[in-house]
Amino acid sequence: MASNASAPFDLPPLPAYTLTPRPPLLPPIPDNILALILPVVAYWSVSMIFYYIDTKDLFPQYRLHTPAELLKRNHVSRRDVVRDVILQHIIQTIAGLVVAYFDSTEYTGKEEYDVAVWARRIRISQKALPGLLSVVGVDAMGLAKKLAHNGFVTLGGVLAGGYYPSAVQKVALDNGVETLVPAFADWELTVASFIYWYFIPALQFTWGVLVVDTWQYFLHRAMHQNRWLYATFHSRHHRLYVPYAFGALYNHPFEGFLLDTAGTGVAFLTSMMTNRQSMWFFTMSTIKTVDDHCGYAFPWDPLQKITSNNAAYHDIHHQSWGIKTNFAQPFFTFWDKLLDTNWKGGDVKLRYARARDAAQKKLDEDAPTAANTNGVTTNGKSTATESSNFNGNTKPQKTTTALPENVPTPKNLVTNGATKA
Ligand SMILES: [Zn+2]
Ligand SMILES: [Zn+2]
Repeated sequence: MASNASAPFDLPPLPAYTLTPRPPLLPPIPDNILALILPVVAYWSVSMIFYYIDTKDLFPQYRLHTPAELLKRNHVSRRDVVRDVILQHIIQTIAGLVVAYFDSTEYTGKEEYDVAVWARRIRISQKALPGLLSVVGVDAMGLAKKLAHNGFVTLGGVLAGGYYPSAVQKVALDNGVETLVPAFADWELTVASFIYWYFIPALQFTWGVLVVDTWQYFLHRAMHQNRWLYATFHSRHHRLYVPYAFGALYNHPFEGFLLDTAGTGVAFLTSMMTNRQSMWFFTMSTIKTVDDHCGYAFPWDPLQKITSNNAAYHDIHHQSWGIKTNFAQPFFTFWDKLLDTNWKGGDVKLRYARARDAAQKKLDEDAPTAANTNGVTTNGKSTATESSNFNGNTKPQKTTTALPENVPTPKNLVTNGATKA
């Protein structure tokens, strides 16, 4: 319990509050544990949607790469990718549990008090207004009187330095006697509520996004600048020349921990998010990372439209010719632009076409051998994503020939990996 009812009354008093532990969103799972579960659930759920799109070949027109490329260009099997992602999820969950162990209990009940604190700050800042206006030769008090006289009472009150004689409330003093004390003006409480419920959380999310982007950009870039770091850790992620959704967190476990887990962890801790906020933040970061590796340039995917960092942008970084560019991940591209590391090689559609043709040629060359070995004849229908050789490491058991419609329309790929609908 806390009460400020006996404080001096030149300012409206702050309301009393009672703290109670915040009930979990999904009982009996504590919120800080749910915040660890949701990103893993989101990762596999969103990945499975893309996997379904892949296997049913629902949007061949938006594919960045053909099924033939998926088969022939990646240097890792799907099974190894799943294994390493599961390992990363285990590591990030353990790290999260360690942080959660030191978490203090979250309480609720102080919201009205915190809004009033902001309202009080607004009131105090108004007190400086007459003095500031006098510096530029404005008689704030005279103007306030005139405004109030003409019906603009609130505006007059603001100019007078936060003077609202009609805003009063009854409070009980410690000795039980009721007395009239100043109250906040409606507009002060409205603005204070907005600051508390929307502006501060928006700042926290913005800060979190900036921390993750900055953390990932510099460490990712270092992984490419230092030969040992690249060979030992980061080269594993680059076995995927043709990224797909659930390959997003296919990393060396140490890199996964350092870049993804620690990055979002530092963002969470320094932004002072609540557990409920962190559920959104961790989950959205995860979904964005998956979307950046989905292999499709969708014109209607909001995640690909909000910022210019999207699957097409990051895909350039996964190509041998673009690997020294487009390091920024996962939200914005400003670090690449600021430090001049964004792709500047011009139109990429020819490069994509070359890789596509080379993969198709390899597949065609392998086809007769595979057909003879396995007794499967070429049916002209793409089964690449259904094939057990999705990895491209081994010869296909089924012969697969990409249909022409699986080839991304070259006009969809323009300079810098940005895509046109
Ligand atoms: Zn890289
Ligand atoms: Zn990647």
